[in-house]
Amino acid sequence: MHIDNTLRLDFKDVLIRPKRSTLISRSEVDITRDFKFLHAPVAYHGIPVIAANMDTTGTFEMAKALDPFMLSAALDKHYSEDELVKFFTELERKATAFYTLGIGDDDWEKFQSVNRKAPGAVQYVCIDVANGYTERFVNFIKKVRDTYPDLVIMAGNVVTGDMTEELLLSGADIVKIGIGPGSVCLTRKMTGVGYPQLSAVIECADAAHGLGGRICADGGCTTPGDIAKAFGGGADFVMLGGMFAAHDECAGKTITKDGKTMKQFYGMSSEQAMEKWSGGVAKYRASEGKEVFLPSRGPVAGTVQEILGGLRSACTYVGARRLKELTLRTTFVRVTQQLNEVFG
Ligand code: 5GP
Repeated sequence: MHIDNTLRLDFKDVLIRPKRSTLISRSEVDITRDFKFLHAPVAYHGIPVIAANMDTTGTFEMAKALDPFMLSAALDKHYSEDELVKFFTELERKATAFYTLGIGDDDWEKFQSVNRKAPGAVQYVCIDVANGYTERFVNFIKKVRDTYPDLVIMAGNVVTGDMTEELLLSGADIVKIGIGPGSVCLTRKMTGVGYPQLSAVIECADAAHGLGGRICADGGCTTPGDIAKAFGGGADFVMLGGMFAAHDECAGKTITKDGKTMKQFYGMSSEQAMEKWSGGVAKYRASEGKEVFLPSRGPVAGTVQEILGGLRSACTYVGARRLKELTLRTTFVRVTQQLNEVFG
């Protein structure tokens, strides 16, 4: 039996140490990033925060609402071919929307067909599987890279440096990091598998950056402070599900409970998602996601302002004039308590 005794940390285990700074105001901070990629000859410019490709948050409406702020959405993979063709042909800054696909034959055929009907319209794809450690997944990435050399490919999820390198060498530009940290995820409970998210981000960023690759921290951010910690730990992109849930732009049921409007949010491996998309939970598997109803939060623009304000402020505290400098200027301190909860 091998037990790795190195301590691995989550967002809740650390705070960012403030540093001397010459910045006068947070309005001086530039939180856009410019990226080149390992494979795709594409120049990215934007704020590298992405709404998760869940069917509640990865909607066309979300992509359109985030676009003016220069944030992105990874779209739900269940949109029809015609809907996707229309969306990608009409989107103004199409560079920022990720087309999501799984690794099934139907996913591949639909993607090829969308590309034939709207040539060049899709620039960014997200190849998404719960477990990015399979040979089949690696081979699928190779196939997409060989067929579409100009596509920016984000692929995941994994949580270790070795697999991050393998996915990059197989054709991915951005590797998506996170197994089990999600707000509606039950993988750790159902399987005992996972990895503390902040350490996963730090270790995988190190592996990816050594090769000229990028990573996207996916899952586990509950506050703007967690997003700052993910960027501070080395993430190039950060993906958010729960923080973008329950807004007007989200899909899902709306109910009224005790006079309050509540919106449905659920994991993509939950019973609810499997009922909706696969006609129920297959006999050989168990649900690894849950369903929640959250108080309705209005337009996503308000949340975006909060996130961007928090990020700018984090940069000011450590003297980072640009988001790019945040990692270099971040020193984490381990803590036993994050917040003063005296008033709940
Ligand atoms: P959040 O930002 O809500 O903490 O995490 C969002 C991420 O959780 C998604 O991008 C995805 O990687 C992951 N996720 C979404 N649905 C499920 C699910 O049903 N099960 C698991 N294990 N992870 C999920």
